[in-house]
Amino acid sequence: MRVKFFNYPAALFFLLLLSCSSGPQDTGHGVLAAETSQAKAPGAETLLVLPPQELAAASRASPSEPAVDPVDYLTLIAVGDNMFHDELILPAGAAAVHGTAYDSCYAPVKSLIEKADIAFVNQETVFAGKESGYSGYPLFNTPEEAGEALVAAGFDVVNHATNHIMDRGEKGILNTMDFWDMHSEIAYLGIHRSQESRDTKLVIIEKNSITVGFLSYTYGTNFIPLPQDKPYLVSLIDTEVMAREIAAIRPHCDFLVVSMHWGTEYEFDYSPVQENLAQFLADNQVDLIIGHHPHVLQKMSTLKRKDGGTTLCVYSLGNFLAAQKTMRPRTILGGLLYIRIKKDASGINVEEAGIIPVLTHYERGYTGARVYPLYDYTETLAEKHGARTDVPDLSPGSFKAMAERVLGDDLLNHDPFKTAQSR
Ligand SMILES: [Zn+2]
Repeated sequence: MRVKFFNYPAALFFLLLLSCSSGPQDTGHGVLAAETSQAKAPGAETLLVLPPQELAAASRASPSEPAVDPVDYLTLIAVGDNMFHDELILPAGAAAVHGTAYDSCYAPVKSLIEKADIAFVNQETVFAGKESGYSGYPLFNTPEEAGEALVAAGFDVVNHATNHIMDRGEKGILNTMDFWDMHSEIAYLGIHRSQESRDTKLVIIEKNSITVGFLSYTYGTNFIPLPQDKPYLVSLIDTEVMAREIAAIRPHCDFLVVSMHWGTEYEFDYSPVQENLAQFLADNQVDLIIGHHPHVLQKMSTLKRKDGGTTLCVYSLGNFLAAQKTMRPRTILGGLLYIRIKKDASGINVEEAGIIPVLTHYERGYTGARVYPLYDYTETLAEKHGARTDVPDLSPGSFKAMAERVLGDDLLNHDPFKTAQSR
């Protein structure tokens, strides 16, 4: 495991996939091999897999507990569609350096990802394996090296409930799960090996004494049906199922995140379907909705819910990394959601939230693909952008104007971690 940014060096870090039936030896669905020793150097991570009752006891029974009520903070970032179109798939020779070939794609945003306590990405496409051939649109299969690059960049949670999840059939999904199971520090969402594992292995990450639960759903699978005897394989939007799964995880986490693959492609405005589903999730006590799929940014809203609380909803984060030719320049621009959660005696609250515009830069022939935060994107880079041929006015200023139109006051055009550290 990499060493992560800590607000409180003494805090324990647990990555938990709670299971009623499985113990620490379980290796399914990203369950970690338990490290029972807590005698690590200060600041190092400690990983534990404990049943819920033991977790509760462990967090209560600290002999050095401070007399005052503790205040804990957690930062979470989330990005949208990570899509390897044909133009971004490197030739086999160039990708031969295992695990590093695609790292440079994320280099300009890596510090934001690493500094977050939890980092989420929507991985639009499968890792079905080399044998079935790598390809972009319409039936994607992405090289595993690109997945390795997500790990190296510092992501912790990877969503796979997308409309492209069945592009290579059931085998593609199984290979994708096999791939992530080799990276036990990564939690993946939306795909499952069995109904039992879907029902019992809840994805909950505990960090800085705050537990964050994750669920994920997609509107469909591009008309490629799931195997009839395996309806559990992909988490599809179905309000009955969602209500049941939310009710199962809600009591075990302080903060509940639901990832939603939904909405109308290329539309800056969210649809009535998204709005209704968002209110449904809010009324079911979901705290944060991370939307994606439209390939363009959509706004962030705070929804009131039945229990008097509020739910933050980002309707679409747009593309993260892509070489999509449709509807440029809007599909070049995406967003990185940043939130800072505070937990104290009064409960849990989102103390800060905003979206940093990000964009995929590539040059002629789609070489040198990189994701940049807009605040670091220069005129010099923009002049070299490969899409300037059909978007002559492509510039940092034109992207900023587009982001402002969609996000309004929720636009963040600086590194929020620098501000947080200076407090
Ligand atoms: Zn999609």
